[in-house]
Amino acid sequence: MLKPEQQASEQKLIDSYQRRLNYLRISITDRCNLRCSYCQPQTPFRVLPHQEILRYEEIQRIVAIAATLGVTKVRVTGGEPLVRKGICGFLDRLGRINRLRDVSLTTNGVLLPPNVSKIRSAGVKRINVSLDTLQAAKFKQITGRDAFEHAWEGIMAARRLGFAPIKINVVALKGVNDDELTAFAELSQTYPFHIRFIEHMPIGDACRTTAEPLLAPEIKKHVSVLGRLKPIARKSDDGPAERYAFDNAPGEIGFIRPLSRHFCGACNRIRLTAAGQLRTCLLSDHQVDLKAPLRGNATDAEIKDIIVKAISKKNRAHKLSACNLKGVSGRMSAIGG
Ligand code: SAM
Repeated sequence: MLKPEQQASEQKLIDSYQRRLNYLRISITDRCNLRCSYCQPQTPFRVLPHQEILRYEEIQRIVAIAATLGVTKVRVTGGEPLVRKGICGFLDRLGRINRLRDVSLTTNGVLLPPNVSKIRSAGVKRINVSLDTLQAAKFKQITGRDAFEHAWEGIMAARRLGFAPIKINVVALKGVNDDELTAFAELSQTYPFHIRFIEHMPIGDACRTTAEPLLAPEIKKHVSVLGRLKPIARKSDDGPAERYAFDNAPGEIGFIRPLSRHFCGACNRIRLTAAGQLRTCLLSDHQVDLKAPLRGNATDAEIKDIIVKAISKKNRAHKLSACNLKGVSGRMSAIGG
């Protein structure tokens, strides 16, 4: 029979549908240096006051507790994580947390050039860069900032430093970047990049529920003009993307299909928002507060208990589909994309 302390160390985050949750995505800030039209509200909005955002030590404590519950992977995101001061030291400290095997980062790439070697030295090996166009003028139009060259230079610098894989996230938007889908797919034939086409999800005030969504089958048809797409067999640790590669390509392409084929059955994710709320599904407004107990001197065991209870309420599946575009409230930048 296990002693109580052994039982605690054996406890795993398994939800009511027998999914093992071992992946925590953390939004460390809701602030961003870009204003992507499909992500951020276009009218003025209030960012979280600093004191409402979790401090690094608070996040580290939650991660350490989650790691005792079987979380082995964390991804740091935002908002834009690289706008937060002290991020490289934080990444380094995260990487030293017992039992954590992988710390990765999602960024828009604009601040990578001055930071990428420090990020690498902090032990991060995998990076996702969000880039929705390869044209400088269109980048400015989508993001409100003339910074394409910085983002591209950031990707190239990450490549020189040996980050692998480098995933490039492209949100597919009808009438905005559907003329560039093949250009993005072509990158996988030149570079070892993983190009990920993401179906746009109607989240928060920025959702474009009136626009017809651009779904994975249509994107696949577009990019198939470049050659035959061979499916890549799934590995147990794979994310939600359906993966393919062109013959002899150093890179690959993938489709993330929250609307046209949801991947909830294989979901292994939980999320910590910048304001310290635990979300068990990106596409549900249900969340549980961790900040108040953290700041109210809760013990690790009490926090663990709150996490375990929240997990037991994780939905079997989200309700979004190509036929039901009823959006989720909240800002993607605060929840963490
Ligand atoms: N600033 C970082 C970045 O740009 O990668 C991290 C945060 S951003 C919210 C994370 C990802 O969410 C980006 O790839 C972005 O394109 C994506 N995203 C934002 N709003 C989205 C939406 N409504 N549907 C699908 N993806 C979205």
